[in-house]
Amino acid sequence: MQWLDKGDDYRALKAANRCQPISYPKPDGVLSFDKLSSVYLANTSHDEDQPCHLRLQDARIPVEVNLPTWAEPALRYCPAGVFELVTVDEQPHLQINSANCIHCKTCDIKDPSQNIIWTPPQGGSGPNYPNM
Ligand code: SF4
Repeated sequence: MQWLDKGDDYRALKAANRCQPISYPKPDGVLSFDKLSSVYLANTSHDEDQPCHLRLQDARIPVEVNLPTWAEPALRYCPAGVFELVTVDEQPHLQINSANCIHCKTCDIKDPSQNIIWTPPQGGSGPNYPNM
């Protein structure tokens, strides 16, 4: 079929030095919303004691490969702000706030290093948008 994508989506990512930062308008609260409000609307829940369903094959890749080459795209493509760049012992570190995840699986598809292992969370929950 002609309309199908050819090739893997993560291979299409351009290096950060070939791109200009995009300045998006602030969410207006009517047609566009901030990330935290959108995560709330998804109404996704997790058992507190379940194993983390987002893991890195190699914890060094986000800072040593993805950050210098693609400005760590996980900071932008995740709709729930799960990935956060923090400083630990004066070094950058990718923190994964998995409790915020809305299970869209974008990180599994889009990570340019294919370093993120996404597994379905226990209970099979996902976004359900009860008020939309
Ligand atoms: S599946 Fe990945 S990209 Fe989607 S919300 Fe969860 S952490 Fe973010």
